Amino acid sequence: RYSSLASKMADEVSSKWKGTTANGGNTKNYIGGEFRESSATKWLDVLDPSTQTVVNRVPETTESEFNSAVAAAAEAYKEWSQTSIIRRQRIIFELQHLIRQHTSDIAKSIVLEQGKTFADAQGDVQRGLQVVETASAITSTLLGDKLEVAKDMDTYSRRLPLGVTAAITPFNFPAMIVLWSAALATVTGNTLVVKPSERDPGATMIIAELCERAGMPPGVFNVVHGSADTVNRICDHKDIKAISFVGGDNAGKHIYNRATPQGKRVQANLGAKNHCVIMPDANRNLTLNAVAGAGFGAAGQRCMALSVAIFVGAAREMIPELIERARALKVSGGFEDGTDLGPVISPQAKERIEGFIASVPKEGGKILVDGRGVEVPGYPKGNFVGPTLVEVTTDMSAYKNEIFGPVLSVICAETLDEAIEIINANKYGNGAAIFTNNGATARRFEVEAQPGQIGINVAVPVPLPMFNWSGNKGSFMGDIPFYGKTGLDFYTQRKTTTSLWPAQDAIGNKATVAMPQ
Ligand code: NAD
Repeated sequence: RYSSLASKMADEVSSKWKGTTANGGNTKNYIGGEFRESSATKWLDVLDPSTQTVVNRVPETTESEFNSAVAAAAEAYKEWSQTSIIRRQRIIFELQHLIRQHTSDIAKSIVLEQGKTFADAQGDVQRGLQVVETASAITSTLLGDKLEVAKDMDTYSRRLPLGVTAAITPFNFPAMIVLWSAALATVTGNTLVVKPSERDPGATMIIAELCERAGMPPGVFNVVHGSADTVNRICDHKDIKAISFVGGDNAGKHIYNRATPQGKRVQANLGAKNHCVIMPDANRNLTLNAVAGAGFGAAGQRCMALSVAIFVGAAREMIPELIERARALKVSGGFEDGTDLGPVISPQAKERIEGFIASVPKEGGKILVDGRGVEVPGYPKGNFVGPTLVEVTTDMSAYKNEIFGPVLSVICAETLDEAIEIINANKYGNGAAIFTNNGATARRFEVEAQPGQIGINVAVPVPLPMFNWSGNKGSFMGDIPFYGKTGLDFYTQRKTTTSLWPAQDAIGNKATVAMPQ
């Protein structure tokens, strides 16, 4: 079943972006409205994490290919930035329609290259689609301000695009995060160069084809592949005005520190360690289902995955049931019916995750459910790690690091104060949740816990795109967060005009030199 579904992957939409050479086909770049074969000498394999089969290869795009992508984006910007907002809106409407129509094509590509389950991959596309949907309200959301500030004098502001922008995206949400930028950068009149994760480029390539079909002129949306070299070129190119980055701490800090001194606007979503607090009065089923789902869903490879569950007081009695919930989850290939967790992205990721699990007993903690060595029939080579529960303290390496796998750490605390203290002492600030039936407790948590996205009886409190992504502390670098109102702020600059149109006979003949008020 797996191989037949995988081979049917995205047939209707994927042919244009695949070259004819090498194992699964070389992925082309998309430059100036053309899918172009790269002449790179360095290529990176894209592996199916369930089987280790090479399904694709991406080039380390050459400097001249990269420069031609930026040149195409700069050329397209001249006309695109002057294109009427109604036309840009119409193209985004069309893109929205096409993404809905091809959701399962994109999702299949994600399952094949990234490993998550098909249902989860569809969610990945849907969460990106929601940003495209809000982007199509641009004719309302981009309205400016106007005020008659004095007699015959008006001040009004408008929001203008920046120019060529770039997006550098991670492997774990290959559709959603590309769509955050694809929709907002272009609808506001910018052009965009995307550098998708080298591990799962397929979703971005299908999106490129859909952008073309939606009517985006050549050069408005471009894709270049590669890794650190291509990223450094993005940081250094003088024509790129803004960079949206989502990924790990090392790459994010590097990009922020390299690009901002060169005058670029950068928004960077980084790593996370999301905690939840379980109070003794919490609804048992709601809590346990949500905690297991958020800890182990997508094999823990979500930046809003739950990494730490703090049981307060008598709530610790729920731990045995959480163990049962974890053991009941099915680990298998993402295309298989009934799969709860697919593989993690690479053998290296698996080894790293298993290293953290092994460190727990060595450092004095306890493994409650051990996902190492999980056997998955039919997938002997997959990078599988089963749901893992470990009991830790905050000084252990499994607590201190972002594991990015299906490992949920359990901590027992005596009071809510103690739980909040643990959360606030953590360097990250992406999300935190509380499970309780007491409104006053929930309200206190919401006010006192520092992370930027708070869930109350909600384990993965990712804001819908009418709000904005609001991770903070070590989970974000920059000043203007992703999507929502701030997403429009990121992709626009304001121009404010003050005009005076007095009646001609009211104008005197003496100059005024004092500061106008
Ligand atoms: P990653 O940092 O390895 O890769 C992200 C992007 O940066 C990729 O396009 C990659 O090619 C590039 N890159 C990687 N290393 C680089 C380097 N040394 N120099 C220049 N560029 C480099 O991240 P990943 O493994 O793809 O994604 C997982 C990470 O992303 C996790 O840490 C996760 O928490 C984070 N993430 C955060 C959010 C959020 O919104 N906060 C969302 C999704 C993922």
